[in-house]
Amino acid sequence: MAQAWPTLKRLYLNDFSARLLDWYDAHRRDLPWRSDTPDAYAVWLSEIMLQQTTVAAVMAYYRRFLTRWPDVRALAAVEDAEVMREWAGLGYYSRARNFLAAARMMAAEGFPVDEAGWRQLPGVGRYTAAAVAAIALGQRAVVVDGNVKRVVARLFIVETPLPAEDEIYRLTDAITPGERAGDFAQAMMDLGATVCTPRSPKCLLCPVRAGCRAYRQGNPTDYPRRSPKKARPERTATAWWIERGEGVALVRRPPKGLLGGMLGLPVSEDAGAGERLGQVTHVFTHFRLTLDVRRGTEIALDGDVEWWPRETLDEAGLPTLFRKAVTIAMQEDANVRSGG
Ligand code: SF4
Repeated sequence: MAQAWPTLKRLYLNDFSARLLDWYDAHRRDLPWRSDTPDAYAVWLSEIMLQQTTVAAVMAYYRRFLTRWPDVRALAAVEDAEVMREWAGLGYYSRARNFLAAARMMAAEGFPVDEAGWRQLPGVGRYTAAAVAAIALGQRAVVVDGNVKRVVARLFIVETPLPAEDEIYRLTDAITPGERAGDFAQAMMDLGATVCTPRSPKCLLCPVRAGCRAYRQGNPTDYPRRSPKKARPERTATAWWIERGEGVALVRRPPKGLLGGMLGLPVSEDAGAGERLGQVTHVFTHFRLTLDVRRGTEIALDGDVEWWPRETLDEAGLPTLFRKAVTIAMQEDANVRSGG
């Protein structure tokens, strides 16, 4: 009798993963990085790009990146600025810097062979290492992203507010099968993205509703529990529009910190005195930035400057914040020129 509960539990968990995998085989999303013969470089790239970014936003970047640099050696050989330009607009630019640094390490030393090895690389955290190990290497690993957190919190009615990191990992570990761990992880993500969605989960279409406690209680959207949100701090700065002939001053930002390594308009923390052209706001993860865009003179410049032709500024690989600022400055200029 002492054996009965572990045996029943095993049966339940096997049934759970079998149902989920059957559903995945029939309904999985067709995504460009999915393949029957997954390549570690491609899986790793997709997982890095998908951090904090939607599938829809990533698709075109992923295809372009992989076409230009189809393997780690090709990528390791290019200049940093080329890679940053290709990443422009995707945000969270430290991802690109870390990805490139790790690619150079791997071009020299080869790919890590397990999750622990991937964890040692710059920019590769717990989630990414597990995802690459499971999906690309076919090893059992516990893969927890935002979708998985939501599904698990509902399946097991987790009362601890997110992140509840340890509890969610322990529960996900308990339901992860020894075989097809990569498919299982992707099935959980797909379930979260298409069925167990944040606001209106489609429980009647869910392959695992028989084992879902939140469904049985009738309150799936009460999970995951959340702590009250803190207000996002506000910051302000000035971006300078400085012209010389047909050129506009761009500076490369320091490698560490906000938009590190990217080209942008010169920025100062203080409120500037030049003609005000407009204002841009942009929401970053930890704060909201309001940028005054002002016309400045070369006196305000500090450090290395690239004088970029104004007609080709859209090819400079500017991050979204500066693209918005440039659009405002050019519109204002056009108004002045047309006498508007
Ligand atoms: S039954 Fe509903 S709440 Fe439970 S996992 Fe499925 S979709 Fe999510």
